[in-house]
Amino acid sequence: MKILRRISETQKLTSSLKAKKKIIGFVPTMGYLHEGHLSLIREAKKKADIVIVSIFVNPLQFGPKEDLSRYPRDFKRDEKLCRGEGVDYIFYPSAEEMYPEGYSTYVDVKGVSSGLEGDIRPGHFIGVATIVLKLFNIAQADFSVFGQKDAQQAAVIKKMASDLNVNTRIIISPTVRENDGLAMSSRNVYLDDAQRADAPYLYKSLQYAKRKIELEKYNRDIAFLRAQMYKLIKSRKTATKIDYISFNDNETLEEIKSLKNGKKTAVLVSLAVRFGNVRLIDNIVIKR
Ligand code: AMP
Repeated sequence: MKILRRISETQKLTSSLKAKKKIIGFVPTMGYLHEGHLSLIREAKKKADIVIVSIFVNPLQFGPKEDLSRYPRDFKRDEKLCRGEGVDYIFYPSAEEMYPEGYSTYVDVKGVSSGLEGDIRPGHFIGVATIVLKLFNIAQADFSVFGQKDAQQAAVIKKMASDLNVNTRIIISPTVRENDGLAMSSRNVYLDDAQRADAPYLYKSLQYAKRKIELEKYNRDIAFLRAQMYKLIKSRKTATKIDYISFNDNETLEEIKSLKNGKKTAVLVSLAVRFGNVRLIDNIVIKR
C-alpha cells in the first residue's frame, strides 16, 4: 500500500492504471475509519483491480461554528486499517494541496442540497460537491462508493455526477450500525456514557416509523408519526435538540406531506438530533 500526498503524482498514477485497463474503485473519507468506512472499502474490493481511499478532512464543508478543529484524526490507525483491507493507495493530501492560495471554484448543486442538512448547515453541500468533484478528477475511478448514512450527500453527489457528466459510477452502500442500532460515525467518539446510552433511540424511532407505515399500508398520517418520533427521542434526557425529523422522496428529496397520494417512490425518513454539542444524523428508506 502506498501513501500519495500530491495531486500530480496521483493523477499520473491513475492515468497509467487506466491505460493498463485496470478497474479503479474509489472510497472518499475524512478518516478516523470505522466499520462503516471499511464496508465501503470491501464493496470496492469486490469489483475493482485497484482500490484508492482518500483521507481528507475538508475544511470547506465545515461551518464557522462546526467541529473542524476537533474533528477526530488518527492517520496511523487509518493506515493500518486500510492495509488490513488490502487497499492499494491512500490519497492523503494537505489542505494547501487541495485549496492553494487563490483557489476560487465551487460546485453548487441546487434543489437536492436544500432542506434537511442543507438548511441547518449553510454552504455544507457546496463544500462536499466541490471536494468530491476534485477527488473524482484526481482518482479517475471507474466507480466510487458512498454510504447511505449520509443520504442527502448521496443524493447531491448522484445529481452532480449526472448533471456534470462525471465519468465514475456512483455506488451507495448500506448503513453499518453498532449492535444496539446506533449508526457508526466518526463523531460517536464525542458521546459521553449517558449520551451513548440514549443515542440508539434515533434508530429506534426510525424503525418505529417504518413499522407503522408498513403495517398500516401507508395510510399513516405523517404529522402523527413525526410527533410520536419526537416524543420517543425527547424521552431521552441527553437528546437536547431535534433539528429535524423529515419524510422525503428518496430520489428528489422533495418533502412528502402525505403517503396517501398513490405515488410509489421510496420514502426517506431522516433526522438530525443534538446530544449537547454532538450532532448525529440517521435515516431509513421505506420502499413502496
Ligand atoms: P466520512 O468520513 O464521515 O466523510 O464518511 C465517508 C464515507 O463513509 C461517506 O460516504 C459516508 O456516507 C460513509 N459512512 C459513514 N458512516 C457510515 C456507516 N455507518 N455506514 C456506511 N457508510 C458510512
